[in-house]
Amino acid sequence: MAKVLDSKIPVGPVPEKWKEYKAHQRLVNPKNKLKLDVIVVGTGLAGASAAASLGEMGFNVINLCIQDSPRRAHSIAAQGGINAAKCYQNDGDSVYRLFYDTVKGGDYRAREANVYRLAEVSNNIIDQCVAQGVPFAREYGGMLANRSFGGAQVSRTFYAKGQTGQQLLLGAYSSLSCQVQAGKVKLYTRYEMEDVVIVDGRARGIIAKNLVTGKLERFSANAVVIATGGYGNTYFLSTNAMGCNCTAAIQCYRKGALMANPSYVQIHPTCIPVHGDKQSKLTLMSESLRNDGRIWVPKKLEDAKALQTDAKKPWEIPEEDRDYYLERRYPAFGNLVPRDVASRAAKERCDKGFGVNNTGLAVYLDFSESINRLGIDVIMQRYGNLFEMYEEITDVFPGELANEINGVKYYKPMMIYPAIHYTMGGIWVDYELQTTIPGLFAIGECNFSDHGANRLGASALMQGLADGYFVLPYTIQNYLADQSVWPKVSTDRKEFDEAEKGVNAEIDRLLGIKGKRSVDSIHKELGHIMWEYVGMGRTAEGLKIGLKKMHELEKEFDTNLFVPGSKEGLNVELDKAIHLRDFFTMGQLVAFDALSRNESCGGHFREEYQTEEGEAKRDDEHYFYVGCWEYKGKGNEPELTKEPLEYEAIKVQTRNYKN
Ligand SMILES: Cc1cc2nc3c(=O)[nH]c(=O)nc-3n(C[C@H](O)[C@H](O)[C@H](O)COP(=O)(O)OP(=O)(O)OC[C@H]3O[C@@H](n4cnc5c(N)ncnc54)[C@H](O)[C@@H]3O)c2cc1C
Repeated sequence: MAKVLDSKIPVGPVPEKWKEYKAHQRLVNPKNKLKLDVIVVGTGLAGASAAASLGEMGFNVINLCIQDSPRRAHSIAAQGGINAAKCYQNDGDSVYRLFYDTVKGGDYRAREANVYRLAEVSNNIIDQCVAQGVPFAREYGGMLANRSFGGAQVSRTFYAKGQTGQQLLLGAYSSLSCQVQAGKVKLYTRYEMEDVVIVDGRARGIIAKNLVTGKLERFSANAVVIATGGYGNTYFLSTNAMGCNCTAAIQCYRKGALMANPSYVQIHPTCIPVHGDKQSKLTLMSESLRNDGRIWVPKKLEDAKALQTDAKKPWEIPEEDRDYYLERRYPAFGNLVPRDVASRAAKERCDKGFGVNNTGLAVYLDFSESINRLGIDVIMQRYGNLFEMYEEITDVFPGELANEINGVKYYKPMMIYPAIHYTMGGIWVDYELQTTIPGLFAIGECNFSDHGANRLGASALMQGLADGYFVLPYTIQNYLADQSVWPKVSTDRKEFDEAEKGVNAEIDRLLGIKGKRSVDSIHKELGHIMWEYVGMGRTAEGLKIGLKKMHELEKEFDTNLFVPGSKEGLNVELDKAIHLRDFFTMGQLVAFDALSRNESCGGHFREEYQTEEGEAKRDDEHYFYVGCWEYKGKGNEPELTKEPLEYEAIKVQTRNYKN
């Protein structure tokens, strides 16, 4: 029987609650701030914005990342844009509408109060970034431009070509650099957090590995903030950067932080299809392309067969023989349905034999109509770098004129297929973004907070920057207000000794296995198990098989792994082995959560629970909660704790993108 978690947070809609909360919030006296140290692990958009803000407020910040520069955090990959409720298009957008779309997009599994706060601060983020000089695209008249993303009928996505993440990160990095220069932030690049140190029940420091020298170092502080990104790479192939890992999050979990909704994994509909078993990375084609690109497969099975064997080319299929299945099934949102809906619809077509590519596992994303309507120059202005990226990888330029049938010009389309992209689940946090361990906070993609069972496009950057610039710098003070009377703990304490000893022992264990298999070969196998049994379509039976296979593979990892080199100096294979150890724990968590949730919602699709039309079928009576998991030791089943959801502002209903 699961325990029920008391979230101790204000629930419900909230301009009032958030205002009331702010009014009663404890703040740290400016003089005391100078005595308080905060560790921020991560320099992606969440971590860099938090470290810069905390430094600017006067706290002493220790900021770490695994890359050689904060500018290389995975956030740099974000292409399409960032949402905000500015309503520059005068199309009826509002804070409430952004709040509503996000809750609905998350299939009514997000915490209402958090989402309202997110929508409320969204506009401040745009102002902050413009002030930093982020070069958002502008209209001819000078106003910031917008485009649309899935799950919204308004145009609220701010963007900088297809490089929004990079530009936002440069903005955050410039603020961070100011604080480094001012001496308020001490930056440690090429450092990886290996463990969190708990003293008297509170997070008081971390053990980090200097990735260049291999040495373990101790850091002590009054609070620790984890901003280490998502766990998509558990699946081996994903759109995430190769270095993305969940080691820090899993160490926090092992030390008592709960992991929430791990089964909510996002599969993005528009990625370049897998092209062989030597591949180690998948490439995203931004969702922004769905503004002007139309998704289709052939209507006739014989055309699909001909396309699969290359006997026909897509531009030889005339308009009347194309099935624009998203427009057909979801007339109100068309190609801009949310990602979970679009991904499942693509899988449904491919499963029925209408898929293209030599694998039958792809659909087309076609710009013919928009190029005919707007001209190639306009399309290139909007998506030029994405077209070039596609060409570089596939040798096909999607804007190239290929055929003309009955006076209609057809251009070469892109081929796309769903792939693992983002993780909505993560470390459980309360309204203050604090985990179940006092003094340990989690922000950005590594927490579970705002997206429910499915994240809408352009909302991750919004959440990361909301957490980092506006929410955490405020809420962490409620905790730190007490801490100014506590002296900073010494890193000579036994808790640091024990944590360091534990990390060292694990490194020795991994190096000492001296088996025959490389980290990548085992990781790839784990990825296959995850995709096959814990991927886009899940069943109770498949999940049990997946868990069994993961368990067996973990034994193989523990007994037959080969890590070359030593622990002294740079050893990338060793670092990957540590990450893989934690992907095993994460993969099993995803499966346990998916098995316990006997319903389909958002990115979690249990094939037993679907409507006649193949849509996700929720069970609000039994599963209207956040599923939080507690670590019970290696090899043991984790324990489920529930945080019941309560909605006051939004009526919980079946999602509808048809009308
Ligand atoms: C291809 C792609 C395109 C995307 N496009 C968009 C988009 O257009 N709009 C949108 O809203 N979202 C988009 N997303 C999602 C978005 O980019 C991410 O969710 C977001 O950037 C995550 O930011 P973060 O700061 O939480 O984590 P990250 O950017 O992943 O940063 C993690 C940080 O933690 C550090 N770190 C990790 N582990 C450790 C450790 N153990 N010790 C020390 N440091 C550690 C890393 O060095 C890094 O600095 C996209 C994602 C992908 C993959």
